[in-house]
Amino acid sequence: MENKSTSVFPKGNKITNNNFTGTAWLQMLVNNDSTYDTSIGNVTFEPGARTNWHKHPGGQILLITDGSGYYQEKGKSAQLLHKGDVVKIPPDVEHWHGAAPDNELTHIAISPNTNKGSVIWLHPVTDEEYSQMGK
Ligand code: MN
Repeated sequence: MENKSTSVFPKGNKITNNNFTGTAWLQMLVNNDSTYDTSIGNVTFEPGARTNWHKHPGGQILLITDGSGYYQEKGKSAQLLHKGDVVKIPPDVEHWHGAAPDNELTHIAISPNTNKGSVIWLHPVTDEEYSQMGK
C-alpha cells in the first residue's frame, strides 16, 4: 500500500502484545508520571487492525489524525471515525477502536487520570463482531 500518511508524529514500533488483532504501531509521546497522571501515544492501525475490548479507569480521549476506522462502546452501534474527529471515552466504559477493513487509522490516544488505574484489557473483537461494522 502506498504510504500517504501526513502524520506529524513518528509511527513508532510495531505492537507485539496480545491486546490487538492485526498489526498496529505505537510511538509514545508523553510517558505517564506523577505530575501529569497522563500518557499520550500515537497509534497507527493497519487495515483491519483493532484493539481488544478494554476500558480505562480514568477515561480516554482519541484525536483522529489520519485515515478512517471505528470506535464502538459495548451494546451500542459502532461510530465511523475520520481524520479530524475527537472521541471522548468515559471512565470504565467497555469499548474498542481500530482501522476500517480497507484503510489505515492513526490516532493520538490521551489517557488521563492514570492515578485511577491503567487500562484493563478484555477479550478480542471477533471477526464476526468486526464484520458488523458499517452495516
Ligand atoms: Mn481505549
